[in-house]
Amino acid sequence: MTNNIHLNARVVAGYGRNFLIENIHGDRFLAYPRGKKSNCVVGDFIEYTNTEDSHSAEAVINTILPRTNLLLRQDQMRTKYFASNVDQVIFLVSCFPALNESQLSRALIACEQAHIPSQIFFNKIDLPGYTETKAQLTPYYQMGIPITEISIKTDSSRARERIQPILNNKISLVIGPSGSGKSSLLNLMVPHAHASVAEVSHALQSGRHTTTSTTLYWLDSQRQSGLVDSPGFQEFGLQQIQPAELAGLMLDIRSFLGGCRFYNCTHRHEPHCSVNQAYQDGKISQNRLDIYRSIYDEISTQKW
Ligand code: GDP
Ligand code: ZN
Repeated sequence: MTNNIHLNARVVAGYGRNFLIENIHGDRFLAYPRGKKSNCVVGDFIEYTNTEDSHSAEAVINTILPRTNLLLRQDQMRTKYFASNVDQVIFLVSCFPALNESQLSRALIACEQAHIPSQIFFNKIDLPGYTETKAQLTPYYQMGIPITEISIKTDSSRARERIQPILNNKISLVIGPSGSGKSSLLNLMVPHAHASVAEVSHALQSGRHTTTSTTLYWLDSQRQSGLVDSPGFQEFGLQQIQPAELAGLMLDIRSFLGGCRFYNCTHRHEPHCSVNQAYQDGKISQNRLDIYRSIYDEISTQKW
């Protein structure tokens, strides 16, 4: 028996074809999208119908409401969605594993294109690699990306003090490489997180781990401040970006645009290039220019 009342909810976790949705009362239950294609992402506001005719879900997702934003990565083969309708993205970096500047830059570019404010949490500042990592982050400090230094493990109370106001009244998507401390951050801010993951596993009646899925956790009982935890990743493809758009999405490079001799300058080999001049003058770092050029080449290759 199915009733036809359409209700609104938010997608708070994704497990393959199954989604956990949360209604306006804060109740969470399983749902699956109508039709074959599961194009929901965590953060989506959706319209659903209750069902009683399924063993694996309690609701059917009928419609995805328009998104304010959507963060994704895209390689030649496929598109991977992080989350939608977020207020900010936190990129978690650490001294160990060592900072991957290309990956950080790619995430910041994707955020810029999706019009999502981004910032960096710099974790494990207790480790000996601190000075080196801080030096690597200099261009990012200089281009105005907020960076918060923390040691979740060795100084958790100060970390919480610094992080709390940044997360307040916002939905924050946390991304970063495995080992940077995402689980530690989640445990620090949402101590009951593991229990809710266990509940979902139980609801799905499966023994497999569900920790690799994206999940929205609330930090407060009013459900105003939320943290979206996403699985670690390796490659961050940017095929969704047009080559000519790339320089404008890199804040340090963007500030030197407009002065090149050729209006369609690609800032790679052309003479009288203001971006290259800024690099010669030490205003754009070697790494950032290299990252620009390598992403440019990557997204310029023929798309099949
Ligand atoms: P995840 O893979 O991103 O979820 O990272 P984890 O939270 O599992 O952390 C990876 C490792 O880094 C664990 O052994 C943590 O104990 C350790 N770790 C997390 N935060 C810190 C920190 O501030 N300092 C140090 N030294 N180690 C940390
Ligand atoms: Zn140029």
